[in-house]
Amino acid sequence: MIHSLYIHLPFCRRRCSYCDFYSQTNLSQKGAYIQALEKDAIYFQSLCGEIKSLYIGGGTPSVFKRREFASLFAILRRRFRFSKNCETTVEVNPRSANKNILSFLGENGVNRLSIGIQFLDAKLLKKARREHSPEDAEKLFIAARLAGFNNINTDIIYGFPGQDKKTFADTLNRITALSPEHISAYIYTPPSNRKNILKEPTPAEEIIAAMYRTLCRELKKARYCHYEISNFARPGKQSAHNLNYWGRGAYAGLGAGAVSSFGNKRLTGAHLNNYLLSPLKKSEEILTKKQINFEKKFLALRMLEGIPYRKTHEKFIAPGWMKKNGAKTIFTEKGWLLSNSIIVEL
Ligand code: SF4
Repeated sequence: MIHSLYIHLPFCRRRCSYCDFYSQTNLSQKGAYIQALEKDAIYFQSLCGEIKSLYIGGGTPSVFKRREFASLFAILRRRFRFSKNCETTVEVNPRSANKNILSFLGENGVNRLSIGIQFLDAKLLKKARREHSPEDAEKLFIAARLAGFNNINTDIIYGFPGQDKKTFADTLNRITALSPEHISAYIYTPPSNRKNILKEPTPAEEIIAAMYRTLCRELKKARYCHYEISNFARPGKQSAHNLNYWGRGAYAGLGAGAVSSFGNKRLTGAHLNNYLLSPLKKSEEILTKKQINFEKKFLALRMLEGIPYRKTHEKFIAPGWMKKNGAKTIFTEKGWLLSNSIIVEL
């Protein structure tokens, strides 16, 4: 049975320069999209038990209006049963959200927000083609607290073209001053699904490594626990939704381009126009045992739990990229930045 739901709302007012997600800027189809989501919900209804985590992401969910969210929530309530403490997250962006929409979300069972801050530096925000200023992001965070949210994630990026150690450290200081319960810090990677419009190169490898060390050190000082390569949380505030992904739990993804995974099956929704015509037409992949085992290993290594120790791991333990932790092998901070290339060799 599936206990975790993801709803993809693939609409943004404009494209960020680094974006590699599936979204589009024509907002006129939002209403039709919500209707299509109900068909998707009917399909997944029988596969789902009580829902323990719901994540509404995008795109920019906060471009949806209150009445559109109201229709979406009504569909979800009609089709699924939610646990009393269901972790319910909505992604919001500083310019498109405001205190009215935040209060409305809070009144409708949303108990966690994820704010796409990315940088608290005006030049980098402009380069990233984000709509907001650093002040907009800080104001939205405060508005979210005033609206009663006591579980907030902030997304930030490091290793971005033009970013230096100082601007990154400044963003980090301002973020920790806000004291969110959760911080997701992603290393910039140039888009692979679209043309890269940023001509400037990324900072040198040693600068990126220094940013990552600063991240780990400063967040440890600020009492965050580093529980996944890119994720830090105050005790007890780890994301239940993401823990399910990383534990390779089953989940249903509703919407255009959304992925669902249960048993050895992986389904992916069609892109918007086709999705609106036939929401249930999904591409299906059957994973082999080998693929599943690789995924489990990959995910366990990204988390602190690691994988059972083997003598062959010594190759990565000697240079200090991995270490033995009881009967397990785990990454060190130094090794986390190289994790993707190391994992394929393990
Ligand atoms: S807000 Fe997110 S999904 Fe939308 S364009 Fe920017 S990065 Fe992409």
